[in-house]
Amino acid sequence: MSIAKNLSQLKASLPGHVTLVAVSKTHPAASIREAYDSGHRNFGENKVQEMAAKAAALPSDIHWHLIGHLQTNKVKQIAGFVHLIHSVDSLKLLQEINKQAQKAGRVIDCLLQVHIASESTKFGLTAGEAEALLGSEELAGMQHVCITGLMGMATFTDNGEQVRGEFRSLRNMFIDWQKRFAHIPQWQPAILSMGMSGDYHIAIEEGSTMVRVGSAIFGERDYIQKH
Ligand SMILES: *Cc1c(COP(=O)(O)O)cnc(C)c1O
Repeated sequence: MSIAKNLSQLKASLPGHVTLVAVSKTHPAASIREAYDSGHRNFGENKVQEMAAKAAALPSDIHWHLIGHLQTNKVKQIAGFVHLIHSVDSLKLLQEINKQAQKAGRVIDCLLQVHIASESTKFGLTAGEAEALLGSEELAGMQHVCITGLMGMATFTDNGEQVRGEFRSLRNMFIDWQKRFAHIPQWQPAILSMGMSGDYHIAIEEGSTMVRVGSAIFGERDYIQKH
């Protein structure tokens, strides 16, 4: 099936309040162009260099989402154009984003990535670390970042109940922190980014407002998936 057809079917099946980020990592600009021409604007990449190269080659009204681990020394390559960074997992990284956003004359929207999976290899803050970051004096002093929500990845497993429980734990943090940190201007929680090709149905049932779907749109990626 074509990319445009996959996209339109997927979009038709999503509730209206859920934003679809089409994860185009490893796929060529021509594939993104096909999706773009069918009207899609939100694309996700996990590597800075790949995202910057594609952004330079494609229309400027695309909303680029950085969904993979971001190294501090690479922030400046995307600070001028990135739409949303899903993968903030340290105060140090957030400070660098704030600095580069200031240089670019922007406020960059970010999500805190919270570790909810049982696998120990995944990036992300623990719930306690995320809480500490939201309550920190450092965040209160940043004028060029806005934390618009949370992102999480569930364990790669066939056990739907485990996946559901992990997504539910993230939603509960989101709801709790919406109120608890409501007085902090840099915390404007509106986005709960959870759900990929294999688990977005469950994620939406558990309150996701943004799903990141790659292979269900573009087909399988051409490398051994580490998920
Ligand atoms: C690759 C990736 C996705 C999309 O994965 P699919 O299984 O292809 O839908 C979503 N989120 C993150 C963080 C990813 O790295």
